[in-house]
Amino acid sequence: AKEVDVASYDSPDFYAKMENANREAGNRPVQILSNTFSMISTLITIASYIVVLFAVSWAAPLIIIVVSLPSAIVNFVYRRKNVRYMFFRSKERRQMNYYADVIVNKDLVKEVRMYDLNDTFTGKYKEVFARYFKGMKRLIYSEYFWSIGLSVMTSVVSCLLFVFIARGVFEGAYEIGNYSLYTGALTSISTCVNNFITYTSTIYEGTLFINNMITFMDEKPTIVPSLEKPRDVKRHCGHSFVFENVSFRYPGGSRDVIKNLNMTINAGDTVVLVGLNGAGKTTLIKLLTRLYDPTEGRILLDGCDIKEYDVKQLYAMFGIIFQDFGKYAVSVRENIEFGDINKKPDEKDITSAAFHSNADSFIDKLPDKYDTPLMRYFEENGTELSIGQWQKLAIARAFFSDSDVLILDEPTASLDPMAEQEIFNQFDELREDKTTVFVSHRLSSATTADKIAVIEGGELVEFGSHEELMALRGKYYLLFSTQAKRYIEGQDREETKAPPMRSEAPRREE
Ligand code: ADP
Repeated sequence: AKEVDVASYDSPDFYAKMENANREAGNRPVQILSNTFSMISTLITIASYIVVLFAVSWAAPLIIIVVSLPSAIVNFVYRRKNVRYMFFRSKERRQMNYYADVIVNKDLVKEVRMYDLNDTFTGKYKEVFARYFKGMKRLIYSEYFWSIGLSVMTSVVSCLLFVFIARGVFEGAYEIGNYSLYTGALTSISTCVNNFITYTSTIYEGTLFINNMITFMDEKPTIVPSLEKPRDVKRHCGHSFVFENVSFRYPGGSRDVIKNLNMTINAGDTVVLVGLNGAGKTTLIKLLTRLYDPTEGRILLDGCDIKEYDVKQLYAMFGIIFQDFGKYAVSVRENIEFGDINKKPDEKDITSAAFHSNADSFIDKLPDKYDTPLMRYFEENGTELSIGQWQKLAIARAFFSDSDVLILDEPTASLDPMAEQEIFNQFDELREDKTTVFVSHRLSSATTADKIAVIEGGELVEFGSHEELMALRGKYYLLFSTQAKRYIEGQDREETKAPPMRSEAPRREE
């Protein structure tokens, strides 16, 4: 799962394969192994009883074995049916897991409680369960129907063999004491043959389940270097990116999300991506970082196709904060260190990253400072942070990372405008010759950028500096003036309603 493309996570088919592989991977191999040993020991037992029964008749054990054959066939057929049922019903199981998780998920608990969604999701769970169980029940009932019928048949045959042995005793062929020996041997053979069928059919079922895992393991990543000997990524320098006629459609999607886009980001530039929701800004970042490959066109990194580079080295070059950044239930320190796991954690680097992201002010107030465990999943003294504090920690992670290209996808959405500006200033100061790309809805932060790229419906509609685009009086001008007007009007309203607020330094906003 760690090797497949990120794009795989967009496909329900991938989740089905993963669930099918994951569900049985833990116990099946052990089960196959232990059943193989049991099968061998049962075979030895059957052979010894056959030797005993040979004194009565060579045909008796043969009859028992032949009579068991239909039962073996039924067993094998139903094991296969069971595996197929499980395989094709992965969606229902995943739905049940999802509905069960929604009710107990920490991030959703507030909304689920307030909107009173518990019963709704329990209802959905029950509905899917009823459907899932109906098919399962049908399978179990029909297997039991056959099993009972065949058990009756084998019991009748055993009884007839008992009568046959009893007749031998009456006729003086065997001694009375041998009656219990032979009938016992017959019963044991019958039981052992049944066990043998169960073991072999379970092994067979196990191998079918393991096939699911093999199918999953066969998932090959497509995000691999296009050259046999991939290029090394130059480090600790600025990097340029050129988008050449790039179009992109998500796997299984029906329309291009990025359309024939051409754009150049020079080494050391700060570029702000601007556009309405759904315009394609995040998608552009996913292409820039090679989480996805363009459907058409190409992206050049320092003059060469991005596909030619070693993927691990490429990923290490980026310091990135996504909109849905990670919140890890580990200590504050580790949350920052995760920015670059290859870097030797140094106290100075950690505190410096926290200082520049303004996270230090709240970290200093935590009971164990940098060693405070976060979230309350595991530790009694675990601390819950506000979303703004989490965001600052994510930014600290980016500051800690030894990256050449900083990418910030709405990294400051939960911060107030002053804190946001302060963080951008810090980025500006510290980024040296790093290339920076960020998405922000607050256009005030775009004014200092080298280039602003206005994206609309997956197309690059305007590209230039703040001054150039303002002079153009196009989309950017419209977006900027609307936002500025709203701020000014908002400010006017505030001023007429209430006495002016004391302006606080953003670093004390905690
Ligand atoms: P923005 O960041 O500008 O708000 P996105 O790049 O996230 O926009 O999304 C652009 C379009 O791509 C949207 O219409 C969205 O529905 C679609 N999209 C985003 N992610 C996926 C995905 N994983 N699979 C399919 N479509 C997606």
